[in-house]
Amino acid sequence: MAAMEPQAAARPTAPRVVTVTGPVDPAALGVVDAHDHLFIDSAAMKGQAFDDLARTTAEVVEGRDSGIGTIVEMTPIGLGRQPAKMRAASEATGVAVVAASGYHRDAHYPADHWVHAATTELLADRILADLRRGMHPADWLDPVLPLDIAKAGAIKGGASYHRISASEARRLDAIGGASAATDAPVLVHCEIGTMAFEIIDRLEAAGAHADRIALAHMDRNPDAELHADICARGVTLEYDTIGRTKYHPDSTVLDLIERVVAAGHGDRLMLGLDLGAREYLRAYDGGPGLRYLMTAFAPRLRRRLGDEATDAILISSPARFYAFPTGGAR
Ligand SMILES: [Zn+2]
Repeated sequence: MAAMEPQAAARPTAPRVVTVTGPVDPAALGVVDAHDHLFIDSAAMKGQAFDDLARTTAEVVEGRDSGIGTIVEMTPIGLGRQPAKMRAASEATGVAVVAASGYHRDAHYPADHWVHAATTELLADRILADLRRGMHPADWLDPVLPLDIAKAGAIKGGASYHRISASEARRLDAIGGASAATDAPVLVHCEIGTMAFEIIDRLEAAGAHADRIALAHMDRNPDAELHADICARGVTLEYDTIGRTKYHPDSTVLDLIERVVAAGHGDRLMLGLDLGAREYLRAYDGGPGLRYLMTAFAPRLRRRLGDEATDAILISSPARFYAFPTGGAR
């Protein structure tokens, strides 16, 4: 599929999504899982790390067979990101994979990790290297290693529950600046759906444009009025508690989507599964697994909203959001 277009093909000026196998036409993405994980190892999720290529490939095959065309892999710097394995999983399955640069909230890093003390400048330089040259295979823990050929196509950010720490603030400043310099899309982890406006304000102050910003996990706080106010600022929301029955039933997310669409923001919503732990993956004998979005949730969404509004959420809105407007990192 289009994911196989070679990276060196051209310097396109039309919008392009940057996948681990090269830039692609956003119209070729198909259904986009807008936030997920293929390999991860977080200090905050002990015992839940996964890095097995064969198991990941099996999970992606199930996702592909359910109808997913593209996966946005939101594992940021320092959390077990695996650029070479991402390329291998994409090449083995034909599913396009967009990788992330950027940084998570404090809780996901060991106390002695370099991200805590790094200057805003260094934090930004490493994002720009990921976007323009290729991802570092060990996230600079072993600086002599050569960069992978795969570039990051998005930037992750993160803040704590009802709080942005000083270290998180530096990282958000670096992320906002890197987006301003490259037009890269930014997806920010909002812990239990909090701090939305503070995060947007911080990124915009660093130069990022609202249209390049999306907020993840907002459905942990399924407040449709709040969400409509956020969308009115031109920011996109990414919901990902689908199948997370321990939080709420899927009908809560369906109700929320219906209300945000009714408020006129149907073009500012994306969906992901965010399967960032072994226990969520069928390949590790867990669930709901990558196929859940299309087998269990999408049919209910289609029944509520109809085809046009459903396809906007699954296909066209993530294609617009994740595309670099002028073709790639400037
Ligand atoms: Zn995630």
